[in-house]
Amino acid sequence: MNSLRFNAISKLSNIGVKVDATKKITAVFNENVFTLQIARQYLSDEAYKSLNASVKSGKKIDRSMGNQIANGLRAWAESKGVSHFTHWFQPLTGLSAEKHDSFFTLKGDGTPIEEFEGGALIQQEPDASSFPNGGLRATFEARGYTAWDPSSPAFIMEIGEGKTLCIPTIFISYTGESLDTKTPLIKALVALDKAAVDVCQYFDKNVSKVTSTLGWEQEYFVVDAGLATARQDLTLTGRTVYGHAPAKGQQLEDHYFGAIPERVYAFMRDFEQESYKLGIPLRTRHNEVAPAQFECAPIFEEANLAVDHNTLLMDVMTRVAKRHNLVVLLHEKPFAGINGSGKHNNWSMSTDTGVNLLGPGKTPKTNLMFLTFFVNTIKAVHEYADLMRATIASAGNDHRLGANEAPPAIISIFIGKYLTDVLEEVEKRVGDKFDEQDEAILKLDIHKSIPELMLDNTDRNRTSPFAFTGNKFEFRAVGSSANCATPMMTLNTIMAQTLQDFKAEVDGLIEKGEKKEVAIMEVIKKYIVASKASLFEGDGYSEAWEKEAEKRGLANVKTTPLALDAFVTERAKKLFEANNIFTHAELEARHEIMLEDYVKKVQIEARVMGDLASTSILPAAIKYQNTLITNIVGLKEAGLPEKTYANQKQILEKLSEHINIISDEVEKMIEARKVANEIADVRKRAIAYCDEVKGKYFDSIRYNVDKLELMVDDNYWPLPKYRELLFLR
Ligand code: ADP
Ligand code: MG
Repeated sequence: MNSLRFNAISKLSNIGVKVDATKKITAVFNENVFTLQIARQYLSDEAYKSLNASVKSGKKIDRSMGNQIANGLRAWAESKGVSHFTHWFQPLTGLSAEKHDSFFTLKGDGTPIEEFEGGALIQQEPDASSFPNGGLRATFEARGYTAWDPSSPAFIMEIGEGKTLCIPTIFISYTGESLDTKTPLIKALVALDKAAVDVCQYFDKNVSKVTSTLGWEQEYFVVDAGLATARQDLTLTGRTVYGHAPAKGQQLEDHYFGAIPERVYAFMRDFEQESYKLGIPLRTRHNEVAPAQFECAPIFEEANLAVDHNTLLMDVMTRVAKRHNLVVLLHEKPFAGINGSGKHNNWSMSTDTGVNLLGPGKTPKTNLMFLTFFVNTIKAVHEYADLMRATIASAGNDHRLGANEAPPAIISIFIGKYLTDVLEEVEKRVGDKFDEQDEAILKLDIHKSIPELMLDNTDRNRTSPFAFTGNKFEFRAVGSSANCATPMMTLNTIMAQTLQDFKAEVDGLIEKGEKKEVAIMEVIKKYIVASKASLFEGDGYSEAWEKEAEKRGLANVKTTPLALDAFVTERAKKLFEANNIFTHAELEARHEIMLEDYVKKVQIEARVMGDLASTSILPAAIKYQNTLITNIVGLKEAGLPEKTYANQKQILEKLSEHINIISDEVEKMIEARKVANEIADVRKRAIAYCDEVKGKYFDSIRYNVDKLELMVDDNYWPLPKYRELLFLR
């Protein structure tokens, strides 16, 4: 046998590559990052002060300091053997992008020198015409700018023996429209800061900055690289488009928190080392529910930095896996029939006075502050549930949401029993006024009980897409391959808007002569009533919830093309414009890019399905068909009675049936694609790909192929099977 599948199996080895991870984490942490401490050593007082101010305030770098800072950066990088630098940005491809330049240059008289000018540090002009722009640059020159984001520190990326100085940047068009995920995120963080600081003034005049915090949890699968390479679908789409469930799946639940296989363990230690050098504060690692599925999570950080670190981590993991002859699958649903992967986004806000705004307080006053931010979050998510749904929409995540294993496409909020009681207590007061005496609620001893109560609840509330977990909300419906910037941008924007509305209402009541605490309590009460429909404590995976949610008027949009509509409603345009995140043109461009992305992904999957069926699956099935025919004819010619080959005939009939259906449906799917491709309107094209191509053919072709997998001689089957991908390590 010389198929890729059997070659890969014969080369499997479960011995991990040696990894030297003996150093303490603190000894390598930030080794490749230009931290402020390092900057202090390499910069003049003046330059350091300027950099420090920009990092802390988010202000632009003073141009006159650019050269000095660039020189310091270069000196540091060269001391580590770096010869090239790049602006590192996150265009709307979902990946990170780089364009490397060397420090090397020739002076006018031909003298070769190394140099790094302030201009090159602060701004670059990559040829951006090949990045998605949704028509934004079509009428202009295909020019884009990358501009340094000093709030995320420069770092050195090591690839093999090569080392590159990476400058995190935003990426915008010639006319200033954002072409990346970072720019709108930073704008949303500014909006949140302003709105939250304003509301904090009710409680503490010393608060002058509020940062949004993010702690992501990255789920992923690991498979042998040889086996993965033998599957075109894994290589080109990141998921298996065919594959019958193995005899053993995740039903024994023996993988979760089980011992990590040695080879994967070596890989983990290796990518963790690389991550520590880059300042990614990884903290936990463990097995996940499905076989071959794992998770890692860092200590939370300021959201912009946390997003950069997650993007970097996905890149580091992918590269390090190669050293171990492994492949990391970040797709939301690499395997049918077993759990997919998500990326929980743990989110909160904290003040420059050191207070976590979603941390229950210790005194009546801080309790009111907690309740304010807690209820505003609930209100924001309830009011803008459509945007929350849109922000996690992707071709990959469509397989997960609502597939009875992941949070459904219905956006609901879990807050736990104790806080439900608190809110009900507040709500009961509808109609009556809170007066000075009525401080029962303010005095609720929230802080003591919540952490313990939340611990009890963590397992049960796994089914909620947005859950309060004691001192933060956890947005669980985010896909594993997503760039967290988009959901974080959305969440922080709707929060900023809701806090502004809240303040306007409270101020209105105060102007009418209401006492501050009473006014705040009144608006909180109103918000609880208004957003109650989104609060749900039950099993989010159940059918009963779908029905109940419908009764409550909650949306349940199951597919990406329709979910994305929420980004371009009049309301969304107003929201994003008012908060200075997107102009209408930017929003429409982004909408178009996301639809295009969806079309391309489904189109590629459809092609891969057709190609695999025609060139691998059907030939294998026909080969087996021939074996059966030879056998039957032989038995018949030998003069044996019909009953000796009756079974073979039956198998042959079934086999031929599946073969015919597959080749038929593949033809029809190709036709449906042609029709879809002709549709000029991208939204309609996306819907056609969703309903007419994927919806009509993917499942039925797969069903028949998977049936063949159970019938055809194992020696003929070309694709590595699930049991091999998931259990051989
Ligand atoms: P889980 O039970 O979900 O694993 P953990 O307490 O381990 O909960 O936290 C998961 C993630 O939440 C970690 O990345 C952690 O750093 C992050 N996290 C904790 N507190 C906050 C916060 N205030 N803001 C944002 N993320 C947080
Ligand atoms: Mg979690």
